[in-house]
Amino acid sequence: MRRPFVAGNWKMNTDLNSAVALARAVSDGVNGLTRSMTIAVCPPFVYLKAVADAVKGSGVAVGAQDVYFQPNGAFTGEISVAMLKDVGCTYVICGHSDRRHVIGEQDDLINKKLLAVLAGGLRPILCVGELLEQRDANQTESVVEGQLRSGLKGVSAGQMGSVTIAYEPVWAIGTGRTATPQQAQEVHRFIRDLLEDMYGQQVAQATIIQYGGSVKASNAADLMAQPDVDGLLVGGASLKADEFLGILKASAGSADGLA
Ligand code: PEP
Repeated sequence: MRRPFVAGNWKMNTDLNSAVALARAVSDGVNGLTRSMTIAVCPPFVYLKAVADAVKGSGVAVGAQDVYFQPNGAFTGEISVAMLKDVGCTYVICGHSDRRHVIGEQDDLINKKLLAVLAGGLRPILCVGELLEQRDANQTESVVEGQLRSGLKGVSAGQMGSVTIAYEPVWAIGTGRTATPQQAQEVHRFIRDLLEDMYGQQVAQATIIQYGGSVKASNAADLMAQPDVDGLLVGGASLKADEFLGILKASAGSADGLA
């Protein structure tokens, strides 16, 4: 049985007041949901502490949107794993497509970050996903496989218990164009088969694979009803408390269908 895991990626949005207000609205609204599913919010670095304080005691976890792999030193502008732990983080998004395609992060840097997150005792969410032109050229599987194998290089089967995979087709992120549940399921199944090849059946069956890309309260249940969709990584819709709570409720409702 995989426990559903829904995370909100706030990206470079909110200010201090609105971040705290959103965090409070989410934590006040989750009620008993955290008993049956994992919920996290991922604000910008500078609001992590305030958001962690705001959700304290609600069962809602806090994640960072990025990290640097070095522990300390002359890395101006960067944030370490220890710093994230210090302000109450549990999760760290690694290799989000904004960072791959806007900032220019490559697989080897993403892998170093993911290994540092694991070594520091936090839980990485590794994002993978193809561009539209790659899907159109039938390269979805090769792109996803390359990102998955590079991102997880050096990760042991034992460490996989702390790793979440997020499949986020780049053409569906922030575009309003969601992958159909069938399109998501096909790639999630492919990822699970790859995990089986890399780590064996037990790890593959236990690993949470989130879908991300224009998820809304109205499409969450259909996505979550797919056998290999275990959770959601939500961008835009996680900035509106009501919409995010709607997604959480729809996801909890589909939890029974999970393997
Ligand atoms: C994301 O930021 O990871 C994302 C999936 O964004 P959106 O839900 O807005 O498409």
